[in-house]
Amino acid sequence: SRTYLVTGASSGIGKAAATRLRDQGHTVIGADLKGADIEADLSTAEGRAALVARATELTGGRLDAVIACAGIAAFDPLTIKVNHFGAVATLEGLRPLLAASDAPRAVVISSVASIHPADEALVEAALSGDEDAAVEAAQAAVDRGEGHVIYGSSKQSVARWVRRTAATEDWAAAGITLNAIAPGTIVTPMTQPMIGNPEMLAVVDSTVPMPLNGHATPEQVAPLLEWLTSADNTHITGQVVFIDGGADVVLRGDRT
Ligand code: NAD
Repeated sequence: SRTYLVTGASSGIGKAAATRLRDQGHTVIGADLKGADIEADLSTAEGRAALVARATELTGGRLDAVIACAGIAAFDPLTIKVNHFGAVATLEGLRPLLAASDAPRAVVISSVASIHPADEALVEAALSGDEDAAVEAAQAAVDRGEGHVIYGSSKQSVARWVRRTAATEDWAAAGITLNAIAPGTIVTPMTQPMIGNPEMLAVVDSTVPMPLNGHATPEQVAPLLEWLTSADNTHITGQVVFIDGGADVVLRGDRT
């Protein structure tokens, strides 16, 4: 059996992944704001440091896989702090623990929203690792009444960070796979308020069209996370795997 760390483990996709892996007999350390083995706020430097310190204590310094699910969809700069900088800090901070495994794997949750029009200044600030500049760009978007672009921008920047990072010395050369998944609309506490409102549902379904089987449950996403982080995944890295009922092909056609 393997040892996993899952962020965002108290709800939605993270909870479903943690439950599935525990049911298979793996050890899962859950991290979240509340109700998890490690309670840490990944929007802050202290919370990110606490996550790594506590994970090191609980595991003796060795982890087989990290699944970074913690995220929010607020029209607020906090969204870039959690979704990009929190996720990158989780993966970079726990990388030394992964390096001690003989089949280390990591995955982060991006989104179909990563292919929606983004705020380029925000994405560039995030990719350059400048959190203050990213927060400033996000606040500027809010101030112009475009706070909705922050979420997709955060999901684009984290996906592009995966592509920039996966083939480097610290990751591929250390035998650690690093991928993102890009879900379509998954029915979780994050999306329930939108899905429950007919006007918002129409916007969701036009921006994330899912011709194959419609909205998904978190339990339908968990098997992909399980496989990408299993020892069987020896050669998939740097990929953004869309699990979206066809939304990516509807939106982008035959572009690969
Ligand atoms: P969710 O709200 O059910 O779960 C997210 C979890 O992250 C919560 O338990 C929350 O407490 C935790 N979290 C939020 N801020 C945190 C912080 N600062 N520190 C630590 N933990 C924090 O949402 P979900 O739908 O399961 O989303 C999981 C991931 O999947 C998110 O990154 C989300 O953006 C992404 N995603 C979701 C969908 C969807 O349709 N639900 C689609 C694409 C991507």
